[in-house]
Amino acid sequence: MREILALTARPGVISFAGGLPAGELFDGAGLSAAFADALRDAARTLQYSTTEGDPDLRAAIAARLTGRGLATAADDVLVCSGSQQALTLAATVLIEPGDVVLVEEPSYLAALQAFSLAGARVVPVACDEDGLDPDAVAAAAAGGARLLYTIPTFHNPTGRTLPLERRRALAAVAERHGLWLIEDDPYGELRYRGEPLPSLATVPGAEDRTLYLSTLSKVAAPGLRIGWVRTPAPLRSSLVVAKQAADLHSSTIDQAAAARWLAAVDLDAHIAHLRAEYGARRDALVAGLADALPPGSVHNRPDGGMFVWARLPDGWDAEVMLRRALERDVAFVPGFPFFAGPPDRAALRFSFTAHPPDEIAEGLARLRASWH
Ligand code: PMP
Repeated sequence: MREILALTARPGVISFAGGLPAGELFDGAGLSAAFADALRDAARTLQYSTTEGDPDLRAAIAARLTGRGLATAADDVLVCSGSQQALTLAATVLIEPGDVVLVEEPSYLAALQAFSLAGARVVPVACDEDGLDPDAVAAAAAGGARLLYTIPTFHNPTGRTLPLERRRALAAVAERHGLWLIEDDPYGELRYRGEPLPSLATVPGAEDRTLYLSTLSKVAAPGLRIGWVRTPAPLRSSLVVAKQAADLHSSTIDQAAAARWLAAVDLDAHIAHLRAEYGARRDALVAGLADALPPGSVHNRPDGGMFVWARLPDGWDAEVMLRRALERDVAFVPGFPFFAGPPDRAALRFSFTAHPPDEIAEGLARLRASWH
């Protein structure tokens, strides 16, 4: 996967490959002011600090989650170096070698890697257009499983969203089988259509067994490396110890600047702007994709997030198609690396956030020319 992304990063390539937010939409001025302000208190903001995180940042995150319907106290929030670190910490704390971790098929590659590195046996669970099938989770859990990792809203790589009824059924399955749930939600605020759905962590049966992960990466900037886990009380101290052992704490200055940025920015307005821009980019990709892919291909139309999932006709290989696309300076990601089980070689993922609609149209024209 890393080799593929390296190829797609060549100058001049219109890339639908990496899941990059649009750099021109970062609030550079606001973040610059926040860093300058934080550095005026350098004796504190350049010092070592507590493992749990900057108190103002934890409070701001808790307030945001509470406002979105997930009642959270600042003490429930462990600030991490990206939500990626929260995945590693959760794996460290929850997994003994040989434990079964259930995952969506396909799923987020770097989470699969974190679980495998912790010694887990990663077991894929079949999904359909609505995501996980709770009955399939129950069947997979029957043999004994430690936890389920899920991205229920605007999934990576498929863009799918788990409907409310399935959230309820999944919580009941988790309760019945004593499963921990990791709800990974980096994309939930990037909704372009429809109404928000409740977090799994609020659904009866799942409240006390869900580690809810999110991040500033998609709504502010990924270079900040600020994410968090909302921890069930029994796991709090072991997660803090794991974080302490990993890196003592996340960058003091970055956290202080993020807290100041959150205090100063109109976050709803900023996210509304991202939604409008990204929604238009999604529309541009979805409108042109059928024409840009070989006849008989299919793709979905996600309600939010950053990704569209597509499938070439039987017999086509997405990796071969990528090599031809790169000759025309356009790129996407083949789907096979996202599978924990036997991969679908015809699947592919398109990210629509990094280019404005006119460049998306040009990229799709190049893609069509690459196989036509
Ligand atoms: N989870 C998912 C599903 C993701 O797609 C990503 C980023 N691509 C992450 C976690 C990690 O994000 P970050 O560490 O930047 O918060």
